[in-house]
Amino acid sequence: MIPKLEVKDLCYSYHTMEGETQALSHISFKVHAGEFVAVVGPSGCGKSTLLSLICGLLKPDSGQILLDGKNVTGGDTRIGYMLQKDHLFQWRTIFSNACLGLEIQKKLDEPHKKKVEELLSAYGLQSFADAKPSELSGGMRQRAALIRTLALEPDLLLLDEPFSALDYQTRLAVCDDISTIIRGRKKTAILITHDLSEAVSVADRIIILTRRPGRIKGTMSISFPEEAGSPLKRRNCPEFSAYFNELWKILKN
Ligand code: ADP
Ligand code: MG
Repeated sequence: MIPKLEVKDLCYSYHTMEGETQALSHISFKVHAGEFVAVVGPSGCGKSTLLSLICGLLKPDSGQILLDGKNVTGGDTRIGYMLQKDHLFQWRTIFSNACLGLEIQKKLDEPHKKKVEELLSAYGLQSFADAKPSELSGGMRQRAALIRTLALEPDLLLLDEPFSALDYQTRLAVCDDISTIIRGRKKTAILITHDLSEAVSVADRIIILTRRPGRIKGTMSISFPEEAGSPLKRRNCPEFSAYFNELWKILKN
């Protein structure tokens, strides 16, 4: 079976006036359809660079990135990107923010508008459709940003520390919320995080990167009993701390 995403021997360096910064070195991994993969690693090790390469915003120095067996190109509509900041426009309503991606891709027809309405109501934002982002909590805004991304029906979701701007308690709740939505829709997702417990609580597999230039230091498969279906439930399982400690050990060495 062709993996949803295959990253092959990827290298990338930034070139600036000050010289060259090697960000990533010989990264290879696969992500299968429906898999939720977390990538952890020290700050500055190249995690955001990796996502920018995967979605085609940056071009690799060498190596290949294949989505469904085909090379990715910039502006690939099969990939959805969600960032730390929700990037909602303050002057637009939640509905019109959620439609923004469709508008840019010139797909904002009646069936798609209906789909946005359905997503807003499925995820508890229907009564905020006409509200401005400033009227919503941080968690609700992240949910609106996710709906904007999901409306485009991406095959692959890239999440770059989407919860790190939230306070700890909100972060736990929003992470639970967002990852339950993503799993419910059986999306393939890559979550970048520097929070080890967040990685263990959401992922099927964790890829651990070294310090810059980022190389793969190890990978860890995570499995919890069926009934521990959400991140908050996983945190209460006895396996949780064993996974956390193992991950900590790999990162520390
Ligand atoms: P992370 O997301 O893991 O914190 P990044 O991928 O943002 O790391 O950055 C990896 C390295 O590349 C860092 O050392 C950073 O300083 C450097 N870097 C990132 N963006 C640029 C850029 N536009 N120009 C030059 N160097 C950059
Ligand atoms: Mg980053």
